[in-house]
Amino acid sequence: MTLRQSLRLGSIAGIPVGLNWGLLVIAAFFTVNLAVGILPATAPSASAATYWFFALVGVVAFFGSILAHELGHSVVAQRNGIRVRAITLWLLGGVAELEREADDPGVEFRVAVAGPAVSVALAMLFGGLAYASLFLGAAVLAATLGYLALMNGILAVFNMIPAAPLDGGRVLAAALWKRSTNRHDARARAARAGELFGSLLLVVGLVGFLFGEGTLVMAILGLFLRSAATAERRRARSLEALSTASVEASMLPLVTPIARGITLVGLEAMSGGYPHPVAFPIRGAHGIDGVVASTAIDDTPSARRPNTVIDDLMVEWRELMHAHVNEPMSGVLTRAGEMGKHHVLVCDSLGRQLGYLPLDPALVPA
Ligand SMILES: [Zn+2]
Repeated sequence: MTLRQSLRLGSIAGIPVGLNWGLLVIAAFFTVNLAVGILPATAPSASAATYWFFALVGVVAFFGSILAHELGHSVVAQRNGIRVRAITLWLLGGVAELEREADDPGVEFRVAVAGPAVSVALAMLFGGLAYASLFLGAAVLAATLGYLALMNGILAVFNMIPAAPLDGGRVLAAALWKRSTNRHDARARAARAGELFGSLLLVVGLVGFLFGEGTLVMAILGLFLRSAATAERRRARSLEALSTASVEASMLPLVTPIARGITLVGLEAMSGGYPHPVAFPIRGAHGIDGVVASTAIDDTPSARRPNTVIDDLMVEWRELMHAHVNEPMSGVLTRAGEMGKHHVLVCDSLGRQLGYLPLDPALVPA
C-alpha cells in the first residue's frame, strides 16, 4: 500500500522515513488526552506545564514506538532480500512499503511477526521503566511510561488479530500457504478474514457511537481495514486465476509479420482490426526483429496513434523466453523469474512459433 509522505523525516538503514499530515491530527488528540485526562488522573498534584511536557514527550515516544514496529518488519524483510521502499507514519499507525511479497511462507511469517515482537519488547521495557520510576517517586514520568507500555501492548495485540492486512493476517496467510502451497488462495482467505473483521469494527463502532458508548475512530478504522482487505482479496484471486491458467489460453496468437516503420493508424487501416487480441511479428531487414501485442496498440491513446510507429511498442525478439504451448503457467512463471524475463514466445513440439505471452511482472517471482 502506498501513502503519500507529506513530510520527509530522514532515513534509517537506507529506508526513507516520512509522515503523512493525518498523523498530526491524531498526535494533537493524543497529546490533549494525555495532558488534561490520563496524566492528571493517574499522577495528581503536578503543574499543568509538567503534564503538557510529559504529554508531548509521551506522544513523540509513542510514534517512535510505531516507527520501531515498522523498522522491525523492514529489517527482517531486507535480510530476506526484500527491499523496503519507505516507511510512512500516518493517522492509523505506520506502513512499511515492501517492494514485493515474500516468496516462501517462512519469510512471510518472519516479516509479519517482527513488528509485533518489537512492540512486545517495547511494552516490557516501558513497563519496567515505569515500575522503576514509581519506585523512585517520579509519578508523572511513571504514568507516561505506563501509558507507553500499555499503548505498545495494545499495538502488539491488535496487530496480531488474524485479519489481513493486519500482521496477524499475514501470519494466517503464511500458515495456510505452508499447508496448501497455494500462496494466492492463502492470501485471499486471510484478506477475507480482514474484510469480516473490518465490518465487525465498523458495525460495533457505529452502534457504539449511536448509543454514546463507542468511538467513531473504531468505525473509521473498520472501514479502512475492510476496503484494504477487499483490495488484497481481489488482487490475490486474480493472481491465482492467472497462475493456474494454461499458456495456450493466455497467449496472443502470432499473425502475419508486418514491416517496421508503419504507424499505428497505418496498421489499423491495413489489418482492418482483429476480433481477438493478437501479436504482430515485426520484420526488419534481416528477419524478425521483435513482436508487438495488439493490446499494447489498444492501450495507446488515439491522439498519439498517427505519430507512433510500431517499432516504438516492439519487444525485441532476443528478450523473449521460449515456452511450450502445453507447459503449465506456474512453471513458465518460475523459469521467467530465474531468467529475469517478462516476455514469452510460445512454440509447439515441432518448434513452430504460435504465440506471444507478455507476463504480468507482479506474477513473476523476483
Ligand atoms: Zn505491523
